[in-house]
Amino acid sequence: MADLIDEHGRHIDYLRISITDHCNLDCFYCTPFGGRTRMSHKEILRYEEVLQIVEAAVIAGISKVRITGGEPLVRKGMVELCRMLADIEGLESLALTTNGVFLDRWSLPLFEAGVRRINVSLDTLIPDRYRHITGGNYHHCVLNGIERAEAVGFFPIKINTVVMRGINDDEIEDFARLTFEKPFHVRFIELMPTNGQSSNSQASLFVPVEEMIRQVKSVGDLCLEHETESFGPARMCHFKGGIGKVGFITPMSRHFCNACNRLRLTAEGKLRTCLFSDKEINIKKPLRAGASTAELADIFRRAVKVKPQKHDLTHNRHELLGRAMYAIGG
Ligand code: SAM
Repeated sequence: MADLIDEHGRHIDYLRISITDHCNLDCFYCTPFGGRTRMSHKEILRYEEVLQIVEAAVIAGISKVRITGGEPLVRKGMVELCRMLADIEGLESLALTTNGVFLDRWSLPLFEAGVRRINVSLDTLIPDRYRHITGGNYHHCVLNGIERAEAVGFFPIKINTVVMRGINDDEIEDFARLTFEKPFHVRFIELMPTNGQSSNSQASLFVPVEEMIRQVKSVGDLCLEHETESFGPARMCHFKGGIGKVGFITPMSRHFCNACNRLRLTAEGKLRTCLFSDKEINIKKPLRAGASTAELADIFRRAVKVKPQKHDLTHNRHELLGRAMYAIGG
């Protein structure tokens, strides 16, 4: 197995792939000013193209893939894509990030296709609030979906909650309490600057991790977990007597760039070496011009060479991303 090592000594083995920019929700913090623009059907990578790119990525040294979007479960045939990806020799882990709206329907087929890890984005436990945040009336669908995913055998199920002041910061304790009843990993995420919000309103929504930790600690005896690779960028804890875990993802106040192991592929075939850098490498162009899988693997090797050492955003310095999060995949 080859190793992809970047100029800063980081081992890059993880690729997040957005398979569509389309989403069935309209979360206010993810939707850019003036609404979303849709990529045209022609622009979006076909499944056989995604497959060839992943084969190349694995040759270069990638061993973990996560499918994201937009909302990946709205793209037709995505279970079949997962089945084909899971069959790629050398690909050790296939994961999915979803808003969970269609998870009830697709949990079993996804599990049978070889997906083993699921992250569900859920910012509130209150149905009315869910409608306000996402524009959709699907709160019950997400809860059913999580239940089905658990019944089918996904473990651990990670629930990702972006914490926003005045929107859902009064639910931190309720989310944390879930881990006494369920083996979920509930992960609180700091809001990141994207072009979904003006920089002023973005700054006013931002809740720093210290504040989240204070609230979580009021729920029970919190113990820090030893770091393992499966926790990714989250710092994980558990409550004494709890069966799940609580995590904190702090891209802003304590970034984890020195441990960053990832590349991103957008739905229209651009490789991004850092979530916060708009410098992209077009891999679709050589692919459509007939590049071989070995040549595409070389593009991955060259991409990691230009991966920035770190991003320099802080919550006081909100420079908006050129691309909205729905068009990157988070
Ligand atoms: N539709 C899928 C989902 O909801 O998980 C995948 C795409 S969505 C863009 C991925 C994640 O990005 C979601 O958890 C969402 O909450 C998160 N996200 C979007 N904008 C964000 C922001 N400005 N700061 C932090 N997280 C954000």
